[in-house]
Amino acid sequence: NGSFLHKTAARSAQMYREAARWIPGGVTANIKYFTPYPIFMDSASGAYLYDVDGNQYIDYNLCYGALILGHGDQRIIAAINETFSHIGTTIFGTPHRLEAEMARVLVDLYPGIEKVRFTNSGLEATLLAIRLAMAWTGRKKLAKFEGHYHGSYDQVLISVTPQKRNLRRHPVKTSDSLGLPEYYAENTVVLPFNEWDQTEEILHQHRHEIAAVIMEPIQGGFIPPDETFLKRLRELTQQYGIVLIFDEVKTGFRTGLSGAQGIYGVVPDLTALGKVLGGGFPVGAVGGRVEMMELCSPASGVDILTTEQQPPSFGQDQPLFHSGTYNGHPIVLTAGLATIQVLRESGVYPQLEANTTQLRNGMEEILSRYGIASQTVGIGSIFNLVLADLPVRRIQDVLESNLSLRRNLDTHLLNQGVFIKPLNRFSLSTAHSAEVIDETLERFELAVKSLVRK
Ligand code: PMP
Repeated sequence: NGSFLHKTAARSAQMYREAARWIPGGVTANIKYFTPYPIFMDSASGAYLYDVDGNQYIDYNLCYGALILGHGDQRIIAAINETFSHIGTTIFGTPHRLEAEMARVLVDLYPGIEKVRFTNSGLEATLLAIRLAMAWTGRKKLAKFEGHYHGSYDQVLISVTPQKRNLRRHPVKTSDSLGLPEYYAENTVVLPFNEWDQTEEILHQHRHEIAAVIMEPIQGGFIPPDETFLKRLRELTQQYGIVLIFDEVKTGFRTGLSGAQGIYGVVPDLTALGKVLGGGFPVGAVGGRVEMMELCSPASGVDILTTEQQPPSFGQDQPLFHSGTYNGHPIVLTAGLATIQVLRESGVYPQLEANTTQLRNGMEEILSRYGIASQTVGIGSIFNLVLADLPVRRIQDVLESNLSLRRNLDTHLLNQGVFIKPLNRFSLSTAHSAEVIDETLERFELAVKSLVRK
């Protein structure tokens, strides 16, 4: 009946009822809800989650991709302990050494990053990037792609939930939440991902009003851009004086150390980062061209710019406002730096990718043996399982696949101890060893078997 209740879940159910008395829907983020109620976790280790009823799961959600080293990596814990025993506090509320240290690492790794500001979430990072672009251009419209997610705030909660395409295949402007004033939709231009002719036409039409194009260079972290799509978009935005923002909150450190921009060789003006960067703690960062980033400098940082690079919109007496009590949190940056240090070791990404390939191939092979059309779509250590054999070039193609079967399969996976947020992507960590993948494939086959038996 679509539930995971044949597992012992009495305590999750009870905790859910209690939580729902005090918390709307019993969850602190809407995405964490699922029917009949979410599973409450009690502890975690490496690739494994343990729920309050004593069930064990192999975790393929990994906090929506944030935990690239898995749960409780000892190198992160040791680094945090060391920082804590040295600094003697949780946070200074002043500048400190680790901020510049992390900023320098990001400048080294990301072609599009020359200077950096830190935030506490991916949401805040894309928000700051958009504000910088508006200030830089003096324009007021934002162009975003249909189905791309950039955080849970008004300006970007437009056309996120994918809609089936109409016959002319034009992108549709929709509102993704109650409580969004018309103002935001009016100032948003919606573009179709991987459809160059339409994208070009729409951008041309609005070229004088658009401050920025914001996008996930790999949609949802798993649908790659067409070969030339990013390059053409880079050229056209440059030509029209539109700021190109790559939201690499999900792809950053997932498709290698330099994100999607590293693998496609396309350099955005501004980049938003988050997730992996915080080593499991709340974080975000915006980096980009020095002259744009300097818009938020309250100091004489602009002295080092050439005349040509001078920010056009504001003088030094009115910088772009960016603040945050917890920005550049030393413990968070410690966890992030420790994570990046591990990722920089040779062989880490190739191993992660080899294990991901082993899992993807194994899942496809099992499904085909049971006569279920399927493919895995992804890049690096994130992928989605799409139950259809048509090519997937945009999120609408996923809507054409067999979603109800996928939802059922996900329920069976939960029952077999494979944790995945129903219909969501799979993310792997370095803790997902070849043995863990083998174990996953055994559980996967049991899930498929019970699915087809029904
Ligand atoms: N952008 C992208 C591409 C994301 O995947 C997310 C989070 N899923 C965000 C922005 C928002 O990040 P956060 O949840 O940290 O606010």
